[in-house]
Amino acid sequence: MSFSQGQQAIAIPGPSPLPASVLRAMHRASPDIYGAELEELVQRVHAQLTRLGGGGVARLASYAGNGHAGWEAANTNLFNRRQKALVLATGSFGLGWAASAGSLGIDVEMIDFGNNRAADPQRLADRLRADREGAIHAVLVTQVDTASGVRNDIPALRAAMGNHPALLAVDAIASLGSEAMRMGDWGVDVVVSASQKGLMTPPGMAFVWQSERAAALPRSDLATPYWDWSMRAGPGEAWRYWGGTPPVQLLFALDEALRLLLDEEGLDAAFARHAGLAAAVWAAFDAWGAGSNGIALNVADPAQRGLPVTAAHLPGAAALREWTATKAGVTLGVAIGAERPDDALRIAHMGHASAHMTLGVLAVMEAGMRALGIAHGQGGLDAATAVIAARA
Ligand SMILES: *Cc1c(COP(=O)(O)O)cnc(C)c1O
Repeated sequence: MSFSQGQQAIAIPGPSPLPASVLRAMHRASPDIYGAELEELVQRVHAQLTRLGGGGVARLASYAGNGHAGWEAANTNLFNRRQKALVLATGSFGLGWAASAGSLGIDVEMIDFGNNRAADPQRLADRLRADREGAIHAVLVTQVDTASGVRNDIPALRAAMGNHPALLAVDAIASLGSEAMRMGDWGVDVVVSASQKGLMTPPGMAFVWQSERAAALPRSDLATPYWDWSMRAGPGEAWRYWGGTPPVQLLFALDEALRLLLDEEGLDAAFARHAGLAAAVWAAFDAWGAGSNGIALNVADPAQRGLPVTAAHLPGAAALREWTATKAGVTLGVAIGAERPDDALRIAHMGHASAHMTLGVLAVMEAGMRALGIAHGQGGLDAATAVIAARA
């Protein structure tokens, strides 16, 4: 990065770009942690986060931690030791959540759908129908797997569960704020998310939303006092929501980010913005892919692609990432879980992503492909700008 490249453009799938007002909001001294100001802030943020769950939220727990902390919080509260989890994996983050559960002593069964397609509701229905004794306590699934770019159809998966008593827990770390989440309508029992992706805030906060049913579970034998979600329900003094001193500067930032997302832009507009940016990226790749050496989106079916991030195969991707970072100040995402990681990459369009940023990223990528002699079809930028023009 150098001054001559202008403002750094970060197109990695987390942390996402921070709005200037979010950065400014954190630049201040800590208030009294037992004072009224912090209590009001914590309760306001709590209420806004509850809105983000999309209805049906009985309780929310907040943790000073990243997404991995959110996984562990959900796992330790949902399951007793040796209770059974059925994990539907559609990429490395699904595998990661399963690994977290397994290491805690939860009995993990996995249906691995691979790296480039959504979980099949029929396979879930078949597996649960075969579970006559109701041994499966909860189903874990990632809404958008940030590694593969796969998006799972949460309402379809819930419908496939039929009358089986298992709870449904969803990792929405990448997708919350960029994709719809309606816990109540969809029948989701637990949602896990974190601050640094769609929520446009620095990393360091994880959240676990609970349905009525999840909140009523008896205390698990895995839940230590720090992770026990019932201890973080408030209301009360601010520190009780956070199990100790709240990360106050992060909370100032999140308060502003939630105001921007929920009140200034509005969730539906934010989802539409993400859909437009994703479609622009996909259109560029379709054009580049024609007549190339294997440039292609990782997920063939557009309905199974996530709105916050796109994973793609691109021969020479490692060199291209290096070029865009050193020559043009654009940081692209590394591939995770790809068969040939040097020939794959990810482009984030999550959080505070915009038309000028996404079009800029695509233009710099095309310049880099030209400079490096990476074969690509013509018309990628034309296709992307046409998408933006039609939607703006
Ligand atoms: C980023 C991400 C994680 C991990 O979050 P960390 O904050 O890096 O621990 C887990 N799941 C998904 C879907 C993610 O996008």
